[in-house]
Amino acid sequence: MKDEKARKELVHYGKLLYEKGLVSGLAGNISLRMEGGRMLITPSGVCKGMLEAEKLVEIDIATEEVEGGGRPSIETPFHLAFYRGRPDVGAVVHTHPEFCTVLALASERLRPALTPESLLYLGKEIPLIPYTTPGTEDLARSIGEPMSWSNAYLLEKHGAITVGRDVREAFHRMEAMEFLAKLQYRVNLIGGAADLPQNEVARIMRSK
Ligand SMILES: [Zn+2]
Repeated sequence: MKDEKARKELVHYGKLLYEKGLVSGLAGNISLRMEGGRMLITPSGVCKGMLEAEKLVEIDIATEEVEGGGRPSIETPFHLAFYRGRPDVGAVVHTHPEFCTVLALASERLRPALTPESLLYLGKEIPLIPYTTPGTEDLARSIGEPMSWSNAYLLEKHGAITVGRDVREAFHRMEAMEFLAKLQYRVNLIGGAADLPQNEVARIMRSK
């Protein structure tokens, strides 16, 4: 993606995440893949609802050389890991949405088989990544093998990550994941609900 368009996209989706209540305070980080083997990522310590295009940070995906802007997000290592390991990934969104984080605090797995929509957007399984310290290479490593096949991750005692071909897709997945977490939390309060039957799950997955 060309520089100016890429910068506008990140500013736009940062604002949308903030307005939808998917990110609060100075938390979270978003990135996208640019032309020339670079990524554009949000700077450290800035509210995602108030990003400034010229302060976004460019990083060379291979060499990690910072090419412009301020201090990159502390979660840069796992963003780089996705771009290196998954040629299909064009954007990464990491936030701490309220209901996802409540379940992550309780180490409770998200259950996409609760609704057809969740299966379609998020796949059959959302990996629960064991806790590691935020902002470290350990966190990038802890994602492990599911990095190759999942587009949504719950980070134990921390938050959530979604990826997509572009920021729009990664954003929609984060929204869908938080909606699922909210449903799951609330249905648990009224006695719980069963997952869709296996044959229906298989049918929906075939229709993707
Ligand atoms: Zn975080």
